[in-house]
Amino acid sequence: MKTTDEITNLTVAELSNEIRSRNLSAREITEAYLSRIEKCDSDINSYITVTRDIALSAADEADRRIRTNENAGEHRLAGIPFSVKDNINVKGTKTTCASKILSEFVSPYSASVFEKIEGVGGVLLGKTNLDEFAMGSSCEKSYFGAVKNPLDPARSPGGSSGGAAASVAARMAPWAIGTDTGGSTRQPASFCGLVSMKPTYGLVSRYGVAELASSLDTVSPITKTVYDNALVLSSMCGRDTRDMTSIEPDGDLLGEIGEEIKGLKIGLMKDYEGLCTEGMAGSLRRAAGILESLGAEVEYVTLPPSNISLDTYMVMTSAECSSNLARYDGVKYGYSSGGESYADIMIGSRSAGFGDEVKRRIVTGAFVLSSTLHGDYYRKVKAVQLRICKMIDEIFGKYDMVLTPTTSGKAFRLDKYAEDPVELYGSDIFTILANLTGCPAITLPCGGDGKMPYGAMLMGKKLSEAKLYRTAYALEDALKPYVKEEVRFV
Ligand code: GLN
Repeated sequence: MKTTDEITNLTVAELSNEIRSRNLSAREITEAYLSRIEKCDSDINSYITVTRDIALSAADEADRRIRTNENAGEHRLAGIPFSVKDNINVKGTKTTCASKILSEFVSPYSASVFEKIEGVGGVLLGKTNLDEFAMGSSCEKSYFGAVKNPLDPARSPGGSSGGAAASVAARMAPWAIGTDTGGSTRQPASFCGLVSMKPTYGLVSRYGVAELASSLDTVSPITKTVYDNALVLSSMCGRDTRDMTSIEPDGDLLGEIGEEIKGLKIGLMKDYEGLCTEGMAGSLRRAAGILESLGAEVEYVTLPPSNISLDTYMVMTSAECSSNLARYDGVKYGYSSGGESYADIMIGSRSAGFGDEVKRRIVTGAFVLSSTLHGDYYRKVKAVQLRICKMIDEIFGKYDMVLTPTTSGKAFRLDKYAEDPVELYGSDIFTILANLTGCPAITLPCGGDGKMPYGAMLMGKKLSEAKLYRTAYALEDALKPYVKEEVRFV
């Protein structure tokens, strides 16, 4: 018999082995996670909805399939629990996007990515908290209250997938599905000492995922290890006829894991030291040295200026979200204030239903898209985006991948940006390049300050996930003793 702590300390790969060797049942594992949620989540607030009944019946069904070797019973995710960010639809459960406007909304259908994982026997534990409509970097902007970082509850878990990351870091889920439009799984993963790959744009279907900025949105997993990440992404990805931007991966994502990295050419971001804290910079320097000692060729590379990427991103996301969120009018679905005319209902519902950050972006987006200014702002940022993509293409003509910090430092204190929400936008300075260019990027813990972790990020050209996993896997292994010493795990 294993205890709850022993079970919830295992990785996805380990849980899968325990299930397949019949040491643990899906039911035992699921009950362990549910009891962990019961014990810890009133403090952390990572879940908006816990789907206890769905979880237990999915676990029993997985056990039955495993016993009889029936229909995907042998799949490595069969019987393994997971959490889903609450901007991803799961039929029959609430999908709130952490907004008052959808606080009572029950999904009439499921997102493709959920169906894929459910189809191979995954066990849904619940829907996780986020910044409203995935806009934010701190997970404080939720209608359901802020999420705390399990490693230090006075600090932010990052955002917008802060609930997803906190659920894994606090051992309330072995892995989580989040979304990343500008860094929303990588920044929380790095703040919580976890791994997250933002895949190539289109690699995971967006069907059934609430849009923030459709041209940048990706669905990405958060896990404890690099191997787990490759394992779960392999089951999430692929072409989906319901999302015309979706694509197949380039071969097996796990295919290169374990291979040596000798001879790989890695560009180290040139001016990173001036953009991050000494602690973060030191950890990244060490990671670069380790990659070199493993046989990679590491040299400095000049990336597109991060402040320009950030500005481009903010104009694009505001524009796209103002158009995407136009559907919440108080008539079709969601919260309605009522009123005499359509205008009254719309104004009343949107004024009361959206929080400040969402309103700020809608107003900015409507401004940059307005007919008189359209050419000045939106067309201009699209031209800048194209230039950035060309620069990145050239870089990936010479290098296999680039190495940067994931964030400028460790997790900041909750409330730090209460007075200046716009300053918070700067937390995505390293992550948005991958979204603007559609490239994959993975963050992994590269050290810590004795308690809180730092994250290093590797970004490669489109569809180079397998190579990124291989490099991150080698780096993770070499960094293990340092991370263990410098990060206080929960
Ligand atoms: N923090 C970024 C923003 O506020 C990223 C959001 C995201 O990736 N969903 O836009």
